[in-house]
Amino acid sequence: MKTGFIGLGRMGAAMAANLVKAGHDVTVFNRSPEKAHALLELGAHEAGSVADACHGEVIITMLADDTAVEDVTLAHQGIVENLAKGAIHLSMSTISIALSKHLSETHAHAGQRFVAAPVFGRPDAAAAAKLFIVAAGQPAAIETCQPLFEALGQKTFTMGTEPSAANLVKLSGNFLLAAAIEALGEAIALVGKAGIDRRAYVELLTSTILPAPVYKTYGRLIAERRFEPAAFAAPLGFKDIRLALAAAESLGVPMPLGSLLHDRFLRLLAQGGDSLDWSAIGGLAAQDAGDA
Ligand code: NAP
Repeated sequence: MKTGFIGLGRMGAAMAANLVKAGHDVTVFNRSPEKAHALLELGAHEAGSVADACHGEVIITMLADDTAVEDVTLAHQGIVENLAKGAIHLSMSTISIALSKHLSETHAHAGQRFVAAPVFGRPDAAAAAKLFIVAAGQPAAIETCQPLFEALGQKTFTMGTEPSAANLVKLSGNFLLAAAIEALGEAIALVGKAGIDRRAYVELLTSTILPAPVYKTYGRLIAERRFEPAAFAAPLGFKDIRLALAAAESLGVPMPLGSLLHDRFLRLLAQGGDSLDWSAIGGLAAQDAGDA
């Protein structure tokens, strides 16, 4: 399939590479052009601008946040101005419900189609084409994207025809992951300060009562206090909690745990945690206990 790909960060670079490897005709664009080099060697085409990346059936965006997606999509010479009628904007970034709704309406007015398909899985899962994809949009548009999903992930879940539903599911999932990280951080701080081996503790839990990937992945990072290099940067984790709380506010759903997580990220970032992985909020409890 002839597709454009905008946003070659930690996730996007690995995802675009898998599309090329699966035989798709991929044209890539990134704000910082040097990140495209490895993709070009693999066989991707280089776009000199956002407009140049918009000549296919589908344009994928995998960008940091709402501001980046707005800049690339809605600005002069952005995706809306350049995508053909009937072509699809496949938005895979984790963005707000409000922006997803706005993009869906704007593309519809321009005669284009919009599918939201945010993902679960960190850059290693993206590189292994093992992402879980949460898609929502018109069934025919999702069907068109299916070969792309197959090259990117291990399973795609469809959440209906309203694209923002996929974004809400993704945000709720990241709220749950952050809550698990905070809980792990507190429990590991407790046993760690008592002198119990933190790694052995996590090994016990994750091989018995808590065998889920979230506890295995983040339990290990917290026990080893290994928050660098970031696979999912803390500012993006904070963004997701803020977006989940914004959705909760507009729907009238109190999420007290979400508010607590908001403050944990605020503390981490206020004290210089910008370059850390988001799991570094799991290190705060040990710091608060004077045991870091
Ligand atoms: P990242 O490594 O920080 O990459 C962000 C990308 O967005 C880069 O290509 C960056 O371009 C671009 N960008 C940022 N601001 C821009 C702007 N104003 N205009 C144009 N481009 C801009 O982020 P990531 O970890 O790949 O995450 C990408 C998305 O996937 C986010 O929505 C994130 O929440 C989501 N996600 C991440 C993970 C994970 O584990 N990392 C997992 C699931 C979902 P430059 O290269 O020029 O900076």
